[in-house]
Amino acid sequence: MTWTPPPPGDRREQLPDDILGLLPPGAYLCDPCQTARSLHAVALGQPERAAALDLDGHRERLHARCQIRQPWTGLECRCRCRREE
Ligand SMILES: [Zn+2]
Repeated sequence: MTWTPPPPGDRREQLPDDILGLLPPGAYLCDPCQTARSLHAVALGQPERAAALDLDGHRERLHARCQIRQPWTGLECRCRCRREE
């Protein structure tokens, strides 16, 4: 049987609360949103190239893959992409 990742936001891989309590509080930005933000920064500096490469479209697709929660800690992705829908 092949392993398939749990869907975004799923908590089944989250560590137990007594272990999470040992970790310092932190902010989480998921990989897709972090990459989308990097593309945004590039687009600000190179608007013509960004348009030619459809960076906006790529950013949208990345935000659509937001992981919602960090799978092991349950921290919510701090990107606002889902709140702006
Ligand atoms: Zn995210």
